[in-house]
Amino acid sequence: MRVLNLIEDKKRGREHPPAEIAWLVREFSAGRIPDYQMTAWLMAVCFQGLTATETEALTHAMAASGETLVLEGLRRPWLDKHSTGGVGDKLSLVIVPLLAAAGATVVKLSGRGLGHTGGTVDKLDSIPGFVTALSKDEILACARRAGGCLAAHSGSLVPADGKMYALRDVTATVDSIPLIAASIMSKKFASGAETIVLDVKVGEGGFLTRMEDARRLARTMVALAAGAGRRATAALTAMDEPIGLAVGNALEVEEACAVLRGEGPRDVRHLSVALAAEALYSSGLCSSPETGAQKAEGLLRSGAGLRALAEIVAAQGGDPAVVYGGGRLPTGRFSGDLRAAEAGTLARVSALAVGRAAVLLGAGRSRKGDPVDPGAGVVLRVKPGTAVGRDDRLATAYAGRPGRLAEGLSQLEQAFIWEQDPVARVSPRAAGEREGVLEIIRGPG
Ligand code: URA
Repeated sequence: MRVLNLIEDKKRGREHPPAEIAWLVREFSAGRIPDYQMTAWLMAVCFQGLTATETEALTHAMAASGETLVLEGLRRPWLDKHSTGGVGDKLSLVIVPLLAAAGATVVKLSGRGLGHTGGTVDKLDSIPGFVTALSKDEILACARRAGGCLAAHSGSLVPADGKMYALRDVTATVDSIPLIAASIMSKKFASGAETIVLDVKVGEGGFLTRMEDARRLARTMVALAAGAGRRATAALTAMDEPIGLAVGNALEVEEACAVLRGEGPRDVRHLSVALAAEALYSSGLCSSPETGAQKAEGLLRSGAGLRALAEIVAAQGGDPAVVYGGGRLPTGRFSGDLRAAEAGTLARVSALAVGRAAVLLGAGRSRKGDPVDPGAGVVLRVKPGTAVGRDDRLATAYAGRPGRLAEGLSQLEQAFIWEQDPVARVSPRAAGEREGVLEIIRGPG
């Protein structure tokens, strides 16, 4: 087989037999296919798509590119959760400990930031001492001790996704339904979960902006799970506005901990409870999503979720005291406020613009392998619908260097859309249509 032929075939829209896809993934993982040829193939997939058979073959080839976890012997149910990626999306940091506190085992293989969206692994790396690059045995030991583990797709686990993900991040090849589906589900298959909750983000701050595309992605992933004997539920959720107020790695960890402490923004709490409820229901731990929501609320109120996060942090070598607040997380050395030039009513905060600002501030990457700055990011000071006076604070930006701070602040200005702006009139949020969970797609079983 020659990779050039595969690129040529995909460019012309031909279907690859499963064996060709398995070969491509194997050779790329082994370092025998250079990044530029893999990128060409990924770009061809972005334009031509993959059939259901090709997507399934890609998913399984990626899952088989490294070790896979067997959770036998760990308490049941075995749950997992994944988001397609958004801005300010720190929900995993709330949901995983809630599910662990509910008695499940949650082994979650996460990714790093992609494009303008943040990644759970980058967020966790901001916790002093926390290790996300764990071996199979270390993951199992952590799950046994704490009920949950948040690890990276690294050298030994789904290495094909690790390598493809890093390439896609910097070559504009993220927003492809089959590539996203294979990337996410390969990690879910490798992590051994029997029940999976998928948060499919729809809106300009995610990778898919149209409901029909989000539905297609959700159905693709739910079908992949069913084909592999797992149960998946996909929730389509709005990603037009950042989730919560904090965007950036350490800032988001602190906000997630605040929610687990019973503080923090209402939307983060609401979405976390809704998704945890789906996981509790579909795994059989609760008899309905409603009782699941009551259980999740109870675990938040009692502090059991917070204690579960502290256990996970400790089990992965981090400082468990971070969950109780107190400024133990890194903060950008330089900070600056964005203030309102005029009085007005805020119609919308653009998730995409805030996400791009966070990347410029240092919270994301522009080139493969770039380090991220754990303390960089944005804290919003106002939410849509708020009347703002002239010179009022709209947001605070944090960066490690003054140049980055200036760049980030200037991009951040574009995030604030006022009621009199022409775009505000057509914004989905202004129409009151896109808040929280928009639709649930449940798999069989
Ligand atoms: N999250 C993933 O793990 N992979 C993608 O491709 C997008 C979001």
